[in-house]
Amino acid sequence: MRAEDVLAADAAHVWHPYASVGATPFGVVTGAEGVRLEFADGQTPIDAMSSWWAAIHGYRHPQLDTAATDQIGRMAHVMFGGLTHEPATTLASRLAALTGLERVFFSDSGSVSVEVALKMALQFQRGTGHPERTRFVTLEGGYHGDTFGAMSVCDPVGGMHVMFTDVLWRQTFLPRPPAGLDGDISAWVAQCKPVLDGLDDVAGVILEPVLQGAGGMHIYPPEAVRWLADQAHARGWLLILDEIATGFFRLGETAFAFERVGVEPDILCVGKALSGGYLGLAATLCTRNVSDGIDASESGVLMHGPTYMANPLACSVASASLDLVAEHDLPDRIRALETGLTSGLAPARGLAGVADVRTIGAVGVIQLDRPVDVAAATRAALDHGVWIRPFRDLIYAMPPFVTAPADVEQITTAMLAATKASLS
Ligand code: PLP
Repeated sequence: MRAEDVLAADAAHVWHPYASVGATPFGVVTGAEGVRLEFADGQTPIDAMSSWWAAIHGYRHPQLDTAATDQIGRMAHVMFGGLTHEPATTLASRLAALTGLERVFFSDSGSVSVEVALKMALQFQRGTGHPERTRFVTLEGGYHGDTFGAMSVCDPVGGMHVMFTDVLWRQTFLPRPPAGLDGDISAWVAQCKPVLDGLDDVAGVILEPVLQGAGGMHIYPPEAVRWLADQAHARGWLLILDEIATGFFRLGETAFAFERVGVEPDILCVGKALSGGYLGLAATLCTRNVSDGIDASESGVLMHGPTYMANPLACSVASASLDLVAEHDLPDRIRALETGLTSGLAPARGLAGVADVRTIGAVGVIQLDRPVDVAAATRAALDHGVWIRPFRDLIYAMPPFVTAPADVEQITTAMLAATKASLS
């Protein structure tokens, strides 16, 4: 089909994320290879977004392609109710070994994995004699997905779901912890402690450890996560960590942020990079203690079961992605990406209109003092051969882990150009 026909059908019928039908896309993608997208008009921009933080090994990776084609030769999908298969059991065993959490519930998106996490916590509390514990504590500035339970724990003021506030489950929001890995949390703790002391109906605490992603690319002290984890555990509340964005080495150093922080979650959500960006796949993991509590709830079972749960194609590709994660020295690789992003973005600090520049692992952020002119910034980056997707006041990159140093330089150059275009 010609690109014009794709665009015409798109404009007539198709909704894109957070858009109205008829909004014009920046490109018609006809293929992708390595770190580059291929547009119908011949452009081949570097994907500095890793397809929304998922394609960590780049596109058309031979090992991931082989895992998918081998699996499709056996079966693409089969229901998971009452049946099992090797791709799911292998992946679950590997995730359990990686995280220390024994029980694994597969789903098809991060948002659903968050719904399952909230449900697990509610059922656990019911099963252990606390049916009154029906609410969650979370942080302002967070983002956990677009379904209703997940929306209820997204930032209630600046988040994308503000208009739904009146119909959402009411949760308790603590102030956002101070910025920076080494920020002083004492004033924040003094604010939070009385709020927590006043609560008697909490099932769990849910947060994105160390980096709040879509809620504002906010890097905050591991110490704040540790303090909240201690508070939760001391009060019988479950600690739910949403590592859908931060998991699988995105922040460098460790595979999961919780390892860097030094806490043990009761429930953990993973998604995005889990399948190397190939297929929709997420998982909610929990401890045996949590699953025992759920078993003791009145239903005796975890009340969830998506149709495409544990899709064999997705599980096979995810296992191949974990092989790549294990084969490559990712902490080293991500240190190099961080160095490249940090030095490349440094010139943005001096620009009028730039509020902050920050990096952590394979994440580089330029924050403006005003909303980004998304169209101007995106076009400027494309003119420099890079695909970015700014939002709110943020121009950022989360490139594939296989991005070469010269490509990182191209990304930061494009981000600087996008910043200038947005500010001019
Ligand atoms: N949780 C976090 C931390 C995320 O960053 C996202 C997506 O950006 C989600 C949950 C929702 O995941 P999905 O878009 O796969 O539903």
